[in-house]
Amino acid sequence: MEKVTIQEASHRLNLSQADIRECIRNGELKSSREPGPRGQRWMVELPEEGWVDGFRASLHELAQQMTPWWWPTERMAGFVHYVQDLGIEEIEPLYLCGLKGNNVWDAKGHTEEDRCPECVEVAKEQGLPLW
Ligand SMILES: [Zn+2]
Repeated sequence: MEKVTIQEASHRLNLSQADIRECIRNGELKSSREPGPRGQRWMVELPEEGWVDGFRASLHELAQQMTPWWWPTERMAGFVHYVQDLGIEEIEPLYLCGLKGNNVWDAKGHTEEDRCPECVEVAKEQGLPLW
């Protein structure tokens, strides 16, 4: 099995690096941290041929379900916040309004009133999709 960097995997599979990271996070791509020239880095196992096609199909489906809004606490109370990038190295998400969390909980099915007003403002300013 050939192992490549996230950058190389993105190039070879013709997917964005964000997509590659997402696949690593959800376990669709196998990866491991290995020592590199500038410290530890993530190495991705290149999947079998045909994997990308299947992935692209599921990506479309996923995009319809995914929301950038997440609950910052397990109680799912208060506001849902906007996470632009969960990051792979940092498990702690950074919300748009500057709030830092320890984890995220899927906010599927939340209402517009549940949204953190500051996150909404920043998202609009940056032209980010609200869904
Ligand atoms: Zn917020």
